[in-house]
Amino acid sequence: MAKTVLVSGGAGYIGSHVTVELIAAGYDVVVADNMSNCDLTCFNGVKKITGRDDIPFYEIDCCDYASVTRLFDEQKIDAVIHFAAFKAVGESVAEPLMYYRNNLVSFLNILEAAKVHGGCNVLFSSSATVYGEAEQLPVTEQTPRLPATSPYGNTKTMCEDILRDTVRAVESIKGIALRYFNPIGAHPSALIGELPRGVPNNLVPFITQTAIGKRECLSIFGNDYPTEDGTCLRDYIDIVDLAKAHVAAVSRMVDGKMKENYEIFNVGTGRPVSVQELVDAFEKVNDLKLNYRIAPRRPGDVVAIWADTTLANEELGWKAERTVEETLASAWAWERHLAGK
Ligand code: UDP
Repeated sequence: MAKTVLVSGGAGYIGSHVTVELIAAGYDVVVADNMSNCDLTCFNGVKKITGRDDIPFYEIDCCDYASVTRLFDEQKIDAVIHFAAFKAVGESVAEPLMYYRNNLVSFLNILEAAKVHGGCNVLFSSSATVYGEAEQLPVTEQTPRLPATSPYGNTKTMCEDILRDTVRAVESIKGIALRYFNPIGAHPSALIGELPRGVPNNLVPFITQTAIGKRECLSIFGNDYPTEDGTCLRDYIDIVDLAKAHVAAVSRMVDGKMKENYEIFNVGTGRPVSVQELVDAFEKVNDLKLNYRIAPRRPGDVVAIWADTTLANEELGWKAERTVEETLASAWAWERHLAGK
């Protein structure tokens, strides 16, 4: 019988791509989402891509424990992938209580419900933000975490620790934390992708919105960093590749292949790309000119971060496959799809 995976935050950007890949790999998926940061665009896209109109959908807030336990009462859940969280760094600085309450309570509720229902495999969506400005690059999973520079980043570190400690204490719960680098791009069908509300904070949505004419000009935040072209270096991971890493991690958990009851994997490409290189690649692959200018550095940005992906390559049998050009073409196709062009 197919195993069932609960995807909390499954109607969002990463959650929708993961749902597609889980279904393609033969899993049953239950989606939970409170729709606080998305509409039904991506969930409807998922149904179209998978041809599945029967994906159970719970419009619930994971901060409401009664709703979470009801879901666990009604569905036999073999694994949970927990995405349901707020993710805007700047907003988290302005509204720390909102961020701590939402991101911690929802995860605590998932773990509590999992425990009460006899245990579960839990995959937490963490972030490279936990490494901060690392001294040694690329970062491995052993690279020390540094104090987070925002409440958002802090919730990622704290949730990792909550999962680690819960796994230690509760034998029936196993956990994996995936530390994502910079997820970008969209599904090749252009039916699902990133849907930022308001002015995008992240680079690629800002690029595509500038290219389509929604924004006048992209600001490149700083070209005086100690890098080859002076702009920051990041590890941009294709969203479909990222989604496949989740399938590999879930399989490892449900098939009993874990070496430790709590494991951490970096999910990136292992290749640093500068902001300028990304902008140039976007222009080239999509054959257009982007309106951009050099602006002052953005406070809080680290100069450079990219992943050592050896552990995920070897243990998960997973590796990033799409080129940055393919990914940037998919991001542009998604933006045009949204604009009806
Ligand atoms: N960036 C930029 N202009 C923008 C948004 C981002 O130059 O409008 C740069 C940012 O300074 C960083 C990189 O793009 O060097 C990636 O930023 P993003 O916010 O996408 O992800 P982060 O690495 O901060 O999580």
